Amino acid sequence: MTVKCEVALTAEPRFVSVQSYIADVDDRYVATYKGKEVDGNMSTIEVLREDHKLIAEHIGEESFAEDSTQGLTTDPFASAHTALPQELIAKFDCLGLRFDGDILVIGAPKTNWPKIEEYAKSVKLKIKLIDAGEHEIREAISLTQTIARSKNNSFDIEVSEVGEAPISALVQQIVERAVLERASDIHFEPYKEDLLVRVRIDGRLRLLVSLPSRLAPAVTSRIKVLSQMNIVERRRPQDGQFSTTVGDRHIDIRVASVTTVHGEKIVLRLHDARKQSVSLEELGMSGLQLEQFSRMIRATNGLILVAGPTGSGKTTTLHSGIKAVSVSWKNVVTIEDPVEYVVPGITQIPIIDPANAGFAVQLRAVLRQDPDIILVGETRDAETARISVQAALTGHLVFSSIHATDSVGAVYRLLQMDIEPHLVASSLRGVVSQRLIRRNCRFCATSYKTTAAEAKTLEAFGLKAATLVRGAGCTLCGGSGFRDRIATYQILEMTEALSDLIVSRPEPNEFRKYAADSGMTTMDHEAVRLAAEGITTLDEALTLMVSSE
Ligand SMILES: [Zn+2]
Repeated sequence: MTVKCEVALTAEPRFVSVQSYIADVDDRYVATYKGKEVDGNMSTIEVLREDHKLIAEHIGEESFAEDSTQGLTTDPFASAHTALPQELIAKFDCLGLRFDGDILVIGAPKTNWPKIEEYAKSVKLKIKLIDAGEHEIREAISLTQTIARSKNNSFDIEVSEVGEAPISALVQQIVERAVLERASDIHFEPYKEDLLVRVRIDGRLRLLVSLPSRLAPAVTSRIKVLSQMNIVERRRPQDGQFSTTVGDRHIDIRVASVTTVHGEKIVLRLHDARKQSVSLEELGMSGLQLEQFSRMIRATNGLILVAGPTGSGKTTTLHSGIKAVSVSWKNVVTIEDPVEYVVPGITQIPIIDPANAGFAVQLRAVLRQDPDIILVGETRDAETARISVQAALTGHLVFSSIHATDSVGAVYRLLQMDIEPHLVASSLRGVVSQRLIRRNCRFCATSYKTTAAEAKTLEAFGLKAATLVRGAGCTLCGGSGFRDRIATYQILEMTEALSDLIVSRPEPNEFRKYAADSGMTTMDHEAVRLAAEGITTLDEALTLMVSSE
């Protein structure tokens, strides 16, 4: 596919931020530049989109902004936003999301549709309306405003003005923009010529802005001051935290620094204190999985494990489970590091001093306080595992997460921690293992006819779909076609037969085979199922194949 892009070169031609592109390209790229420079301009750039290579050809001189090294990547959907008058946007919470040919796709709450339709008719504008929540749209509107504002001026900081005020404003603006784009992390990465600011959105890093390296010390110091780190110490890794407000959102930020060859690299983890736990139904499990998980958690005692790598949504699953079984007459206690969801009516204990009062110490203390349901944020060590198993065997319902690649791996992780097989067999109710995949943006999702190759892939998983869905890219997904993520699960529900099997301690693969025969599906299968149901793309499902089975 050939794409024409308007690109802005960063000081060093390692990164190219693509400033605009045609709608059928589905990512806002951080691209690697490869190609010839002709009279200071590039003739060709190669844009890497995951493993696909898209070649952008014939980029003319006029496409290059003179000095855009300080600008944030701009919004490729700007023409869609500006197609509606400001008064209409403000009054009816509507936002132009993208153009589909000459049709303007507008996101707005349903109640406001008649007024918007009336307006479109009066100015002969062809529109398509998509239902959107007021809140979603308002945040998207402030994002477009932030982008427009930062493009116009605030990022053009001259050396002479590198003082505290503009740097504070710059850092605040970066944080704001990241929050509005739903980023989970912000990376400030120093290189020889520039300080790259990248944000992680739905699990992937994307360039937000490239700042000249002369700003790096001031930006770094500002963040260190905010997070109460030692600004003079530049060699040892440090950590700290601060909080800020963006719109009506309170954001807690954990900060960590390390020193690289080009100076200090700082990473900010953003945590939205407003985050709400979700119901079991919203987890995205298949019908059978939901049944299995519900059965597991409705037991009065036993151990329920959730396995997966960091950032795979384990906490969300654990909290949904806890929420589903919490009743007012039970004592529900959680030990977490950190507390991500604040839930009224349950006792939540953060790990503040991991060296002296880690999970094991806290868990022992909790057991002296008459608990019914306990959530142990993570089973990291043998001691925590042992106490959890004991608690599960003595009438408590214990939820915990564990590092393992799949459900059967989690069982073996317990055995490796020297928990006797018969104790595992009698305490474990089941294991959920999971991964996150990006879901199609509902504001720009479009269905298309399944190709022969895709049909073949689906068939390999015993699935069928006449049409599949992909996102066209719009304002609300930053052009990526994806918005938010959903987990794919593998559920191992312990049965009497499987418990008996654990006691004989078979090879993991033998255990996997038995589990599969008794109905356990793989995460790969679940990912492809989500694609067949139009929730994600088949590409996305295939990219994240884990296949440890
Ligand atoms: Zn979209």
